[in-house]
Amino acid sequence: MRISNCIVCNKVFQHELPTVRRCPECQAENEQVLRKVKDIILENPKLTVQDLSDISGLPYRQIMEWIHEGRIIR
Ligand SMILES: [Zn+2]
Repeated sequence: MRISNCIVCNKVFQHELPTVRRCPECQAENEQVLRKVKDIILENPKLTVQDLSDISGLPYRQIMEWIHEGRIIR
């Protein structure tokens, strides 16, 4: 068991995997936003990451993170 500070809300939480950086609440929120972004991509497959960032209002970095994690496939 590891203890980390959530990168979003800074709350201390326990987890098993070294890659987990969000507490369960922020992770759930993140998943929800990710689903929205995936919907935008499905409707507009030719968007760039910058376009996605502009449309969704999410930081460019967040979208790049999902791409690196393989959560979004371009
Ligand atoms: Zn959090």
